[in-house]
Amino acid sequence: MSSNFEIIQKDAAGRIGRLTTPHGVVETPTIMPVINPNIQTIKPSEMRDFGAEILITNSYIIYRKDELREKALKDGLHSLLDFDGPIMTDSGSFQLSVYGEVEVTNEQIIDFQQKIGTDIGVPLDIPTPPDVPRSRAESELETTIERLAQARELVKDGMLLAGPVQGSTYPDLRERCARELSELNFDVYPFGAVVPMMESYRYADLVDAIVSAKKGLDPTAPVHLFGAGHPMMFALAVALGCDLFDSAAYALYAKDGRYMTSHGTYHIENLHYLPCSCPVCVKHTADELNNAEDRVELLARHNLYVTFEEMRLVKQSIKEGNLLELVELRCRAHPRLLEGLKQAYKHSDWLEQCDPASKSTFFYCGPESADRPEVLRFSNRLERLTIKGTAIIRTNPTKRDSEYDNLLTFKPPFGAYPVELGEVYPFNAEVVATPDHEVLGRALENTIRLIELNPDAEFTFIRKGELEHPLFDKLAGIANVVDNRGQE
Ligand SMILES: [Zn+2]
Repeated sequence: MSSNFEIIQKDAAGRIGRLTTPHGVVETPTIMPVINPNIQTIKPSEMRDFGAEILITNSYIIYRKDELREKALKDGLHSLLDFDGPIMTDSGSFQLSVYGEVEVTNEQIIDFQQKIGTDIGVPLDIPTPPDVPRSRAESELETTIERLAQARELVKDGMLLAGPVQGSTYPDLRERCARELSELNFDVYPFGAVVPMMESYRYADLVDAIVSAKKGLDPTAPVHLFGAGHPMMFALAVALGCDLFDSAAYALYAKDGRYMTSHGTYHIENLHYLPCSCPVCVKHTADELNNAEDRVELLARHNLYVTFEEMRLVKQSIKEGNLLELVELRCRAHPRLLEGLKQAYKHSDWLEQCDPASKSTFFYCGPESADRPEVLRFSNRLERLTIKGTAIIRTNPTKRDSEYDNLLTFKPPFGAYPVELGEVYPFNAEVVATPDHEVLGRALENTIRLIELNPDAEFTFIRKGELEHPLFDKLAGIANVVDNRGQE
């Protein structure tokens, strides 16, 4: 368990936390802008203006270039970058994954990171890409764990040490790796080699990689989703328990003429209007931005503004307890993100264990809302509801309410619950009057189970005439189903 990380507030598996580093405290979730030690589109000293509290750079690039290495060893990393806040450094693992080899050992790069005063150092792990044969994923995982154990021995105090969780697209390997690394007690757990999944929009696989690794970790350990820099997926990743992100995307996209938004990316040449009010966008028209001499820098600035704006919104949503509403909204931006959302809700049993039992109002955002942890929690607790005597289940109060021993409200996606719970979370949910088919189905399943769990009670169900579902036939077999027309 990391004593450097304190959780302040939770929503779903997401949290607002405080990570203590040698150069100060960082509030998470946050994004670390990636600084290229050679070329800087935007100076590190300016990064705070965008909202950055911590930066990330590559110690291997510094190590390999004499001029940078000498300066870093003499004056320190913070002086080299001219930034006095926390700085994380990567180790060359990325270069290893691209070129197949690096000119440094694990021991050397760990030693170097310590000497230059890195706040969070990373060992030279092996980022195993998705879809490799299981035997390769397993053997590379062994090497990664060996190197991480060696690094843990070398770093005793001062620098925080990251323990990257690998395992390719094998969820059980990810979980096992996380479990073994937890034993070694790292300060931050990056989830590695997920960039290829994000580049090909494999959000469902990304969700599985995150959840399986999270399951192997202490829930209070800080997590870094390595290489995740597009704002449209922050809400989803934070809701699954990721705390740190890094963005090279702001600069890489800018170089390509790509303009980020919280729901996708535009090519600047295709933009007739700028749908943003950041300092860059209020000073330029789309045409001016496209034709500007410093287009790359201006785009990089805009991209950073929207990146931090989205993270602030994610944090506000955690404070308000409606992060899952934001996730459902964002995941409608792209069908592959929607697949990610559906996959996330397949893990609702896990999310339910992380999720605070009481939040603000549950907002129905679409059929996927029926799979939210709160709905699962209610289904799991139906056994606790004991109904005796006569009971009426209805959507709204009726004239005949007083004739029954028990009054229950029917509200999809939950089902039937005692009216006394109506003002209590999550039953105070804002829902649509005409539920989607799947959502009505979920509510009817729960209602049927509740009736079956209480065989001695006598149930009357007031059916709103316009609602249609095959499960009404099953319901009619165990309860007295009455059409509401003429009843209310
Ligand atoms: Zn802008």
